[in-house]
Amino acid sequence: MFARLFVPGQPLGRVDMEATEWSLRQAMHQVGGLVLEKVVNADGGDYCGVRLTCGAGHEARFVDYRQKHLLTVLGEVAVQRAYYYCASCQRGVVPKDRALDIVGTSFSPGVRRLMGHVGAKEPFEAGREDLEKLAGIKLKTKAVERVAEAIGEQIEEISRRERAQALADKVVPLKSVPKFYISYDGTGVPVTTDAPHARVRRSRRVTRAPT
Ligand SMILES: [Zn+2]
Repeated sequence: MFARLFVPGQPLGRVDMEATEWSLRQAMHQVGGLVLEKVVNADGGDYCGVRLTCGAGHEARFVDYRQKHLLTVLGEVAVQRAYYYCASCQRGVVPKDRALDIVGTSFSPGVRRLMGHVGAKEPFEAGREDLEKLAGIKLKTKAVERVAEAIGEQIEEISRRERAQALADKVVPLKSVPKFYISYDGTGVPVTTDAPHARVRRSRRVTRAPT
């Protein structure tokens, strides 16, 4: 790209700003994806020995290294992971997936955050279009729906726990508040009797309340 833009001995000439900014961003994403892939594979696959505990009290044995293709905000990245198998649970155990927060998904945490963000604000199809236009991330509408709904359920679960704790009187404030201020303000209210255009003026009052 640099060679195309800067030909030795030739003036740069007129720059197509939009085409240049888009292609530079795409190129930077590609470079970033290569760097990210190096970084996440620097551990060689996160080998944790021949055996490890599966999480349910059994022993899982190392089988081999397996690759996962992960969609990140910088494009697709291949992640090398040590794969273990627990015969008692009859399931695979991949410690690196837990460490990277990619258990049971091929979307990186960054992409999932964006999917949750658009999924919470607009219809899933519009969210998918926005992700492609704004972030250069190409997805299926169903994927946006699934991830956004899963995040919504997680948030609801956290809220449920907080509500239960609040009702159980187990919430402990981190710091006491010596003074607590409450302010309120009124906005314009149209009056329609004698003076149709009269308005109650905006007012603001600050109340000091002891705690
Ligand atoms: Zn097990």
